[in-house]
Amino acid sequence: MSETLDIARKNANAPTVAVPVQDVPAAEESVSAMPSLVGLTRTALAETLGDLGVPERQRRMRAAQLWSWIYSHGVTDFDVMTDIGKELRTRLAENFSLGRPAIVVEQVSSDGTRKWLLRFPPRARGEAPVEVEAVYIPEHDRGTLCVSSQVGCTLTCRFCHTGTQPWVRNLTAEEIVSQILVARDRLGDWPGASRPTDGFVPDAERAISNVVLMGMGEPLYNFDNVRDAVLIAADGDGLSLSKRRITLSTAGVVPMIARAGEEMGVMLAISLHAVRDELRDELVPLNKKFPIAKLMEACRAYPGLSNARRITFEYVMLKGLNDSLDDAKALVRLLKGIPAKINLIPFNPWPGSPYECSEWEQIEAFADVVNRAGYASPVRTPRGRDIMAACGQLKSESERVPAWKRRVAEGEDAH
Ligand code: SAH
Repeated sequence: MSETLDIARKNANAPTVAVPVQDVPAAEESVSAMPSLVGLTRTALAETLGDLGVPERQRRMRAAQLWSWIYSHGVTDFDVMTDIGKELRTRLAENFSLGRPAIVVEQVSSDGTRKWLLRFPPRARGEAPVEVEAVYIPEHDRGTLCVSSQVGCTLTCRFCHTGTQPWVRNLTAEEIVSQILVARDRLGDWPGASRPTDGFVPDAERAISNVVLMGMGEPLYNFDNVRDAVLIAADGDGLSLSKRRITLSTAGVVPMIARAGEEMGVMLAISLHAVRDELRDELVPLNKKFPIAKLMEACRAYPGLSNARRITFEYVMLKGLNDSLDDAKALVRLLKGIPAKINLIPFNPWPGSPYECSEWEQIEAFADVVNRAGYASPVRTPRGRDIMAACGQLKSESERVPAWKRRVAEGEDAH
């Protein structure tokens, strides 16, 4: 039996205690009415400085200074930026914030996984605040942050909890990047900051070494914001995450896959889950639009694909549905010629979920077939199941409020 599988099995049966954490900033304190500088591209940041009256010849340098304070040091107070003149600091503080989203709930799983429910303030008058979840998964030699790209999701994959929450809106680049910043705050992952003492954080230089776009939402349906956020995360003068350590997972938005490679250059993961269109149509309804053959074509053409930069195919193990050895063999045939890793994900249940997780013996046998064909096929250890933080368990209460309902609510507030 593989070591990974062994760990996966032990963890799945581990006693589970979710510990809600109390000492997080109160929701209201973190909400700022002023626009944030977080999430602006370098060009937009320089332009913003221009609007504040910074002469053109200074803009690039000032933007670089701000960039470093925001993304290398995690500073949230302009006054700390001592290499920027007092006058400009004051002007910045009068017009912009570097505030973080409010942490509504922080939970630490018995296995060290942390989940944050984050609240973003309305972007415009009349809009409701929205909530999304982000998850931190520590391992011995790395720490992975799983971030959301949308509030809710349009895809309605049958086995995914987020899929039961109607799509509310896309997250902005600021909101996507902010998930990384707030997680670094909480993990003491800035120079000179101290790591939390509750729960396990790897003893590595960086608590967050990897980022996966595998939280709520379909990242390729929010392309521009996700791209801007990824480029900020990968910027060598700031958060400095290597693009090889940023993975974007898609259910298969075929027309956007090439652009993801060209404009972001991140590692690609595909939520495959079935090898026949008939079953995939049911599990991942997006398949009706972009069937398996088209998806495979897009994968083969993914820019930068090589043995050193493989595509990860995610495959959720659903008892009696997609877990037969014939399926495993068909999977191997389907991926022939594509530099690939296969990530078997034991199905994570959620309240009311219509499926069951495959038996461990079956997962093992399935993994064997795939391994023997020469593919690495790690079984993804279920992490944070006790706090509903595992793959496909994320969801928030946010819903889309129709305009007339908002008007009624605002009218009522005024009386
Ligand atoms: N929309 C993107 C991003 C979500 S990634 C995508 O589909 O790839 C989340 C991963 O967890 C996807 O592979 C998804 O299919 C998988 N997943 C969803 N629900 C799950 C569940 N209940 N158990 C295990 N994996 C699940």
